[in-house]
Amino acid sequence: MAEYHCFQALGLRIVLHVDRCLFYEVNNLTFDLLCTLQNRSMEDAVLSLLRRYHKQDIDHAVDNLWREDFLSETPWPQPQPETVKRPLSTLELCVTHGCNLACRYCYGAHGHSECESCVLYGAQAGPMARETAMRGVNFLYANSGRLKTINVVFFGGEPFLNFELMKEVTAYCREKERQNGKSFDLSVVTNGTLFGEEQVRFVNENRIGVQISIDGPPDIHDANRPYRDGSGSYSTVASALALLRKSGRRHVPARTSVASGNADTMRTFLHLLEMGFTSVHIEPCLAQSGNAAMTSADIDHLIAQEEEIAGHFVKHIRAGPYLNYHGLVRHVRGTRVVHQRRFHYCGAGRGLICLSNEGDFYPCHRFLGMKEYRIGSLDAGIDDSKREPFRMLHVDARPVCRDCWARYFCGGGCWSHAAGANGTLETPDEEVSCRLIRRQIELAMAINASLRVSDRAIVQGIYESETLPYLKE
Ligand code: SF4
Ligand code: SF4
Repeated sequence: MAEYHCFQALGLRIVLHVDRCLFYEVNNLTFDLLCTLQNRSMEDAVLSLLRRYHKQDIDHAVDNLWREDFLSETPWPQPQPETVKRPLSTLELCVTHGCNLACRYCYGAHGHSECESCVLYGAQAGPMARETAMRGVNFLYANSGRLKTINVVFFGGEPFLNFELMKEVTAYCREKERQNGKSFDLSVVTNGTLFGEEQVRFVNENRIGVQISIDGPPDIHDANRPYRDGSGSYSTVASALALLRKSGRRHVPARTSVASGNADTMRTFLHLLEMGFTSVHIEPCLAQSGNAAMTSADIDHLIAQEEEIAGHFVKHIRAGPYLNYHGLVRHVRGTRVVHQRRFHYCGAGRGLICLSNEGDFYPCHRFLGMKEYRIGSLDAGIDDSKREPFRMLHVDARPVCRDCWARYFCGGGCWSHAAGANGTLETPDEEVSCRLIRRQIELAMAINASLRVSDRAIVQGIYESETLPYLKE
């Protein structure tokens, strides 16, 4: 038998052929047959099904399994993992390690509630120097091979604390673009609290993508993301969004962290939709977030809410308004592409790197200041031996992932979740992260199975138009 996975979601019975990366909505008989075959021989399975189904229907279902390669004389060929060395495509530029908020789960504080100027990042606090930033851009440029477009993401801390540097880097990138022809896609991830008319003008005039961190309605957001004096930041963030929308910007993605005890994602989803966000990237707080880290029980609750969101998505996809709920939409897109396997979850350490204010490179912002994951520096360049695991530990090479039915759609999960939970890149955070990812992938297949062909084109459009480049895989 081929490797397959049977499940039910959104009232449908679905079976995934793992190696073909192809799923089928099946009738009760085929579903029962495949479920029974998971632990019985064909002879036993047919015998047990004869109590409920006609022999000729069972024979027909078995014929279909042969035709679709669930049954085969020869083993499915081993896939060729993608391990080629990629050029750099994205630089996360931490223009400051400082922040004006004191978020409950800040990984910069490594689980401590007192995040004094984010000094606990493990990297030095404070702004990035101009020279460091420009050298970072040059490094990205020089190592981007033949790519026609490269991405710079202004990260922090809160990047707008160093607005002057953002302006200088932007001007530098645009000048480089004019001289050399390679284009820069610029974006910023901001907490939205330092975002007035001037900032709106700046991002619009310079075509800079803006992702705003917001955790939901005021009660949830303010509990998670207070200022340092303990007061809530919701109303300031809501004003920033209003300014952006008023300026004519159509797409504003939200970045939402879900902390232990307040995983009210359905309410958050509807609230963000009503506010005018067009996309939401949900991040469960995992290890490194101290007492905000989600537990297994939180994940059960979160999964139940994702099912509701999936149902809402199917119901409203034709009429809109819609919200690109990234956790599902990325998999809706991924599971539509037949025979295409993902060997990695994200580009961290491969096409994507992060530059600290000290001039050190890390695989992505989540590793900032974790010296054991430092992969190089502006002075020494990138140490390929440190970067290699991010390329070579693809899903077929990782002990837990290679036995997981979801591997070619998942790609192996977030490296930082693995490192935070298990202290190693090799082993994913099964209890929390994997359970959520697997159900998201099942729901995504069920969404696809529920949609008409024309609806699926709408989904593709949502994904393409509203996902910041660095969030795409
Ligand atoms: S769900 Fe978990 S075990 Fe499965 S491929 Fe993803 S990270 Fe690996
Ligand atoms: S998924 Fe995880 S490892 Fe990858 S870029 Fe995002 S935070 Fe970093």
